[in-house]
Amino acid sequence: MAETSGQTPNGIKASFESWGRYPKYRANIIPIHWQSDFPTVIEGVHNGILPVGLGRSYGDVGLLKDGNLVVTTGMNRIIDFDSETGLLTAEAGMSLAQILDFAVPRGFFLPVSPGTKYVTLGGAIANDIHGKNHHVAGTFGRHVTQFELIRTDGTRILCSPTQNADYYSATIAGLGLTGLISWATLRLKPIVSRKIDYEGIQFHGIDEFLSLTEQSRDIEYTVSWVDCTSTGRNFCRGIFMQGDHSQKKDDLKLSPKPKLIFPFDAPGFALNHLSVSLFNNLYFNKQFSKRAVTVQDYEPFFYPLDKVLHWNRMYGRRGLLQFQYVIPWEHAREGTIAILQEVAKSGLASFLAVLKAFGDVPSPGMMSFPTPGITLSLDFPIKPGKSFPLVERLADMTLEFGGRLYPAKDAAMTAAQFQTFYPQWQDFARYRDPLLISSFWERVTGEQPA
Ligand SMILES: Cc1cc2nc3c(=O)[nH]c(=O)nc-3n(C[C@H](O)[C@H](O)[C@H](O)COP(=O)(O)OP(=O)(O)OC[C@H]3O[C@@H](n4cnc5c(N)ncnc54)[C@H](O)[C@@H]3O)c2cc1C
Repeated sequence: MAETSGQTPNGIKASFESWGRYPKYRANIIPIHWQSDFPTVIEGVHNGILPVGLGRSYGDVGLLKDGNLVVTTGMNRIIDFDSETGLLTAEAGMSLAQILDFAVPRGFFLPVSPGTKYVTLGGAIANDIHGKNHHVAGTFGRHVTQFELIRTDGTRILCSPTQNADYYSATIAGLGLTGLISWATLRLKPIVSRKIDYEGIQFHGIDEFLSLTEQSRDIEYTVSWVDCTSTGRNFCRGIFMQGDHSQKKDDLKLSPKPKLIFPFDAPGFALNHLSVSLFNNLYFNKQFSKRAVTVQDYEPFFYPLDKVLHWNRMYGRRGLLQFQYVIPWEHAREGTIAILQEVAKSGLASFLAVLKAFGDVPSPGMMSFPTPGITLSLDFPIKPGKSFPLVERLADMTLEFGGRLYPAKDAAMTAAQFQTFYPQWQDFARYRDPLLISSFWERVTGEQPA
């Protein structure tokens, strides 16, 4: 199971799984509620330790087979907020959903937001996540002005671009391996409305996508859904979605809590080429004209999937494989065409296929994933004998086109691929806390728990 479960030192049985529900590892769960509990809570444990958040990474960056997971979500208090500057200091287990509940009624929003608000501040830093505004705002880490790192020997390190800048850079996109992030300060951005001025534009082919990307440089948020089941004249058709925060003052009320829950594991055959092609056809044609202009709430714009809790059960008990690459501009066009052709040919359909151009704002993390170019993320239900060979082929193609894969969305890249994608990994490893390790790190470096 992608679930890790076991007996904690204090006798509580708990479980933890990654969003892809693959791989399926057991681990000892150690909940933490106070910053001062670390490192006491890990005294005497063996087989390695890993701090984790809400388990929204897809593969094994947040898993540790037969080891100890320190679950940080109980450490979720606001420490300070300055309504003049928008600087919010909070414990690292606070989720982005909790930050939004605090910030939006006060006229502030996240500087960078992923496709779900159910990730923690610590998790967002540890993967240096990106959002629809990467081309203008860069990654999440750029907006984190300082944080505290607690090492397993109890040392506390205050990190910022000017203080312990090496640990600052190693911990942003540091995959939870440099220490426990106990709290962080994030620069929020002012808003006057919950609304987004939205425009959806149908496109056919990569060149139309690239031309829309060029035209929308000054628009804050851009992202595209792409149909990767279609071939021929419909190859690489999609919807280019763009938006800006509305400047018309409006009620800044709280978001409603989600009411829908995906109730069971769907049977393995439910997501097949036919059902996904049908979905893609309906989705592409959901807007009747080439351009649709509306004003919409930020929730459906940023977090359409959060409406249904546990939607990952739709992929069945075996789970899903995510795959996200970035290919630098030099080969971005040809690489994306080749990869989309390979996916269409495979018959293994992905309906959550997201295409976006990364901008050239530098990322602060030593191991950050984004780089200027095209990024595509895909998901595949795990089908024995099919999904892994496809993902391996796609990883090889990414390598050929000079790109790299995103660890937060990976369960399959080989050690050789990782070490080519991230040649700086050995420099980074010097900052790893000797007791902290993940199943991802074991897989891609061959290192073992101390
Ligand atoms: C529907 C969906 C959409 C997504 N969209 C995007 C997107 O648009 N862009 C994007 O970049 N990502 C996206 N993601 C991935 C997600 O944002 C990242 O995987 C994020 O890191 C998950 O945070 P988490 O709190 O769930 O952390 P986990 O998944 O629990 O952990 C992630 C990493 O953070 C480390 N970590 C967690 N807390 C701490 C801490 N306090 N101290 C040190 N290390 C810590 C863990 O060791 C692990 O390496 C998406 C995920 C989903 C499910």
